[in-house]
Amino acid sequence: MGMKMDIELIDKNGLRIDGRKPEELRPIKIEAGVLKRADGSAYVEWGKNKILAAVYGPREAHPRHLQKSNKAIVQVRYNMAPFSVGDRKRPGPDRRSVEISKITSEALEHVVMTELFPRSSIDVFIEVLQANAGTRCAGLTAASVALADAGIPMKDLVVGVASGKVDDVVVLDLGKEEDNYGQADVPMGYIPRTGEIVLLQMDGDMTQEELFKAMEMSMDAAKYIYGLQKEALRKRYEMIAREETEEIEGVQ
Ligand code: UDP
Repeated sequence: MGMKMDIELIDKNGLRIDGRKPEELRPIKIEAGVLKRADGSAYVEWGKNKILAAVYGPREAHPRHLQKSNKAIVQVRYNMAPFSVGDRKRPGPDRRSVEISKITSEALEHVVMTELFPRSSIDVFIEVLQANAGTRCAGLTAASVALADAGIPMKDLVVGVASGKVDDVVVLDLGKEEDNYGQADVPMGYIPRTGEIVLLQMDGDMTQEELFKAMEMSMDAAKYIYGLQKEALRKRYEMIAREETEEIEGVQ
């Protein structure tokens, strides 16, 4: 962010490097229930990002000193595969992945009804298979669907989406070049139905007016993404219902 380069991020027609308008998202696809062994899972393609989320639990929290007597903890591990970025990423946790895991956990603890599962842990694994900016938001969006797919009681779904500023223009959902050479990036975790913000970060600089405009863009986009999340879950439930019907018919 903020690396000043002679790279044109907005052309003379007001369009971005990948041809998008300022308020346009990259294409997003969400699928629920993609892994057999996990209690819940989701796969998200968001532009060139490819992200899997898997959920286990609630199960007894280990080590035991992590247990909370009145509620469950939501443990998140955000991990980038070595082949997910241009220069092979060194495997294992680094400062960035520890930070993203922490903020994702905090965002999810706002929606999971943790008070129902004292001393338990709900474990969320976010695996970034391919990264192209905005992975923390795509990861949060995927994790939220995976939790619902696991049947974990939640107050609502959280959407992750970012907006920011490039070439002095406020834009939605920064791509890789925009993230590298732009002026500001503002990832947000948002619950469209209640209007609650459960994650907000800012990297770079903006005026208050620009920040509010960026947040508005993210909130509008979040409503659309929320629709995609619900649609993915609806398809998943339909599939489960169909499989169960076939099973019943099979024994007759
Ligand atoms: N990135 C990378 N190597 C790394 C970390 C990040 O190439 O070790 C890239 C990756 O494409 C990522 C982008 O930089 O999506 C922006 O990273 P940032 O830390 O802003 O997080 P994100 O936007 O993915 O949430």
